[in-house]
Amino acid sequence: MIETNNALKARFQDYTIWHDRLGHPGTTMMRKLIQSSQGHTLRENQVIPQHLTCTACSQGKLITRPSPVKVSKETLHFMERIQGDICGPIHPPSGTFRYFMVLIDASTRWSYVCLLSSRNQAFARLLAQIIRLRAHFPDFPLKTIRLDNAGEFTSQAFNDYCMAMGVTVEHPVAHVHTQNGLAESFIKRIQWIARPLLMRSKLPVSAWGHAVLHAAELIRIRPSSEHRYSPSQLLTGYEPDISHLKTFGCSVYVPIAPPHRTKMGPQRRMGIYVGFDSPTIIKYLEPTTGDLFKARYVDCQFDESLYPTLGGEKHKLVKELSWNQTSLN
Ligand SMILES: [Zn+2]
Repeated sequence: MIETNNALKARFQDYTIWHDRLGHPGTTMMRKLIQSSQGHTLRENQVIPQHLTCTACSQGKLITRPSPVKVSKETLHFMERIQGDICGPIHPPSGTFRYFMVLIDASTRWSYVCLLSSRNQAFARLLAQIIRLRAHFPDFPLKTIRLDNAGEFTSQAFNDYCMAMGVTVEHPVAHVHTQNGLAESFIKRIQWIARPLLMRSKLPVSAWGHAVLHAAELIRIRPSSEHRYSPSQLLTGYEPDISHLKTFGCSVYVPIAPPHRTKMGPQRRMGIYVGFDSPTIIKYLEPTTGDLFKARYVDCQFDESLYPTLGGEKHKLVKELSWNQTSLN
């Protein structure tokens, strides 16, 4: 009997840790995620608590859930229409960043998110992303871009480029929000995930940039309201493997680079995990400076029971974040 209880407790802990790693989804989304991804043990586990008491969820989410936008049922193909919007200015800034820009494909809900220091960076980033998309998916020509916040994006050079490429640029009529509802609700969805990520960690609010980018990664593996499958699976055809996911803000021990490593000294140092570039490359913050570094996943050891603060344990004063990278995507 005791053993059964322990086994149940272990399964429950396993559920809780995946709830943290996956960005605090509710029960329904958790069920969908379990069914549509691999690299976890939850399918065999069969433990889905009706009510999970999670402090990060309580602190980070208000009752008002982002309402799923009723997008008219048009049959769109991948890349037929991309919608974009900008969120910000956000206070306090995250390093030099004050805004984030989102682009979302209306058919697959595939998305792209980047951080911006100022609104007038939006046009260059948007253009770079369009060029990248055309190179990645030559068989799926981008037909329409629908942009909110027309001011940032309105530029003769941009319009000329799009016209030359055969891309129609649509600016929704002012104050008619439903026209760009998809991008807008996507921004809300990111905030809905990024906030509890931050609450669970011991990072200051100014680390929101990292949380936003990580939330965007997590959304890619979540089935949307429109589809049974996640954007990732719709694009690649495979169930996403989430075995590399760790809890945002947990401690990670990374190898010390050879020039700084001595024979008898420590071989690893502690960092704060803030997500990944790819399944094989993780991103972490140096706890004393808040600078961003990358490491190979295979070289790292994670401790998901320890959430370090910035500025080191000695000064409990929460250090605001200033990272050394000028641009992140
Ligand atoms: Zn939670």
